[in-house]
Amino acid sequence: ASMPVITVDGPSGSGKGTVCRLLAEKLNWDVLDSGAIYRVLSLAALHHQIALDNEEALVPLAANLDVQFLIDPVTKNGRVILEGEDVTTTIRNEDVGAAASKVAALPRVREALLRRQRAFRTEAGLIADGRDMGTVIFPEAEIKLYLTASAEERANRRFLELNGRGLDVTLSGLLEDIKARDDRDMNRAVAPLVPASDAITIDTSELNAEQVFATVVEILEEAV
Ligand code: C5P
Repeated sequence: ASMPVITVDGPSGSGKGTVCRLLAEKLNWDVLDSGAIYRVLSLAALHHQIALDNEEALVPLAANLDVQFLIDPVTKNGRVILEGEDVTTTIRNEDVGAAASKVAALPRVREALLRRQRAFRTEAGLIADGRDMGTVIFPEAEIKLYLTASAEERANRRFLELNGRGLDVTLSGLLEDIKARDDRDMNRAVAPLVPASDAITIDTSELNAEQVFATVVEILEEAV
């Protein structure tokens, strides 16, 4: 098919990011990191002193969001630029994730970001990483994956990642954050986090990144 899409949805820490990167490398497709868009938006709100529940002010901010997703030609790492400032590392902080899930709960904000996300689709093929990629943004995608894992395991992964970056975090604090974010993402009125009816669910609790990737590759091979 022309402009093929594979959607990868699931909660925070389920391993979507890594699997999407590996998949994009293998297939030579592009990636949409839709969570990064909500993260950048919440950071922009902070910069412009707009409250995270001020839908009226957040809608035009979302519609005109000055964000660029670049690929470093040397390292091949993605970089995220907000209003000319490199925010690649900042947007990964836990408080930005929490803020992102607040702006993401606002229906008209999601609406304002819809076209921008669909525009990531290219002839090369797209791996779409998020919460509502298979249900709302690309409902016609040929392959839909839903990654999940226990909250404890996901908190543990975040702990290793953030601790490794030298951040002062605790496992119990991260578990609470993850549960709060799950609750907001799964119980919001618009585009809540649920597997699409035609999604294939993978529980990654007992799998490392390599094993998750191998499982996904197997699914893709069976699908063609
Ligand atoms: O995936 P990531 O943790 O970067 O996403 C940050 C937040 O953005 C999520 O907790 C969720 O609330 C929101 N999000 C969303 N829809 C998406 C991607 C992310 O609501 N497609």
